Amino acid sequence: MDKVRTRFAPSPTGYLHIGGLRTALYGFLYSKMKGGDFILRIEDTDTARYVDGSVQIIYDTMRDSGIMYDEGPDVGGNYGPYVQSERKSIYTEYAKKLVELGGAYYCFCTPERIETLKDDAGNMRYDKHCLNLSKEEIERRIANGEPYVIRQNVPAEGTGSYNDLVYGEISVDYKDIEDGILIKSDGMPTYNFANVIDDHLMGITHVIRGIEYLSSTPKYNLMYDAYGWERPVYIHLPPIMKDAQHKLSKRNGDASYEDFVNKGYVKEAIVNYIALLGWSPKGNVEKMSLQELIENFSLEGIGKSPAIFDETKMKWLSGEYVKAMTSEEFKARAYEFLKKSKAYGKYDEDKLLAIAKGRVQIFSEIADKIDFLEEFSEYDLSLFENQKQKSSAQLAKEVLPKVKDTLNALNDWNNSNLFSALVELSANLEIKKQALLWIVRIAITGKESTAGGATEVADILGKDETLRRIDFSLDLLNK
Ligand code: GLU
Repeated sequence: MDKVRTRFAPSPTGYLHIGGLRTALYGFLYSKMKGGDFILRIEDTDTARYVDGSVQIIYDTMRDSGIMYDEGPDVGGNYGPYVQSERKSIYTEYAKKLVELGGAYYCFCTPERIETLKDDAGNMRYDKHCLNLSKEEIERRIANGEPYVIRQNVPAEGTGSYNDLVYGEISVDYKDIEDGILIKSDGMPTYNFANVIDDHLMGITHVIRGIEYLSSTPKYNLMYDAYGWERPVYIHLPPIMKDAQHKLSKRNGDASYEDFVNKGYVKEAIVNYIALLGWSPKGNVEKMSLQELIENFSLEGIGKSPAIFDETKMKWLSGEYVKAMTSEEFKARAYEFLKKSKAYGKYDEDKLLAIAKGRVQIFSEIADKIDFLEEFSEYDLSLFENQKQKSSAQLAKEVLPKVKDTLNALNDWNNSNLFSALVELSANLEIKKQALLWIVRIAITGKESTAGGATEVADILGKDETLRRIDFSLDLLNK
């Protein structure tokens, strides 16, 4: 059996969207699980759709997400060039060969004549008008500089069938396939031609791509057969939907990998989640590293039905990755997001990160969790009234001066000392420790719910600021 070779063949038309990245990932996973090669090929023959800078985005996204290719434009390889616009002469040579083999023909029809072939709805079906031109006439017209295209010669009758590994037996009647253009009048190939030539010349064994190519594949097979080449194995992937009716698509402005990274999703979680969009692992494990994905991936696990992109689930998975991080790792990855918090630069950053870590699923939630530290101002005293905690404003008024004395006397200001001191104080005052902690939290934050308990917050605020806030609250209570 040949070495498995798969490829990702994006067109540089903007950001690498989630669907594209899923195609890349599956090609990568399959080749790696088989000890094969994964190739990146840039399909840039459609100059009208070309977006400047998008090739770089493709390189960056793949590196950043860990979906690394063995061969490609920027890493080289033995089957290059890996950019289609640099392969023009190869396509010309193979198009001529296909004409000789009867699989294609020169067409000189003018745009005006093509116009006359359109039906009322504007659909055009080429009528094979130029199929039987003599060799001499073709040569003469080319020598005269007449513009031409090369069209595929699709049989008028018969059926093209193949077995897709996901969708099973696919059959398309040739009468439903048009004699499409393979080489345009500017000499550039269309996707329909270039994908066949490149996949063959690059030794691609398994073609993994979106479902939109499922029914075009019989026409590609006609070319493989005409050249006498072995057809690759086909694996078409189910669509990714944003809801029951709408496909997820960059044309609708749906988020790209980069957008999610910027929103603070853990990168590994994005890749992990994308792997599950259309593929079900055996067993119930969903959190998998790239290495584990390689080990567990299987073509049999790819389903036919559309996959729904569920951002909430991806967020949950991101949270699982956050939980599994060490504090050092969390700091390194979350730091850029910590900087966006109002609390950044004001308090010990390790302590800030410690209260955020257990409470966020994506890094952009960090600011939300710790900004409260910097948002202390006049608050509603009814917050002290809490029956469940047996707390009241009256009680706060009585105990806060004692809290102040206790904390003032504390030598070593840290969370556990603060906690012991307040527990001891509550025992001396014969009140519930929950009541005292509740009162302290309100007094130093002005909020009933915060990330981190009273003593964690006091620890971060430091002695001076904690005591200042207690004074402020006592003033409020005594007004
Ligand atoms: N350039 C095509 C696309 O971006 C690739 C299709 C394929 O993988 O063959 O959709």
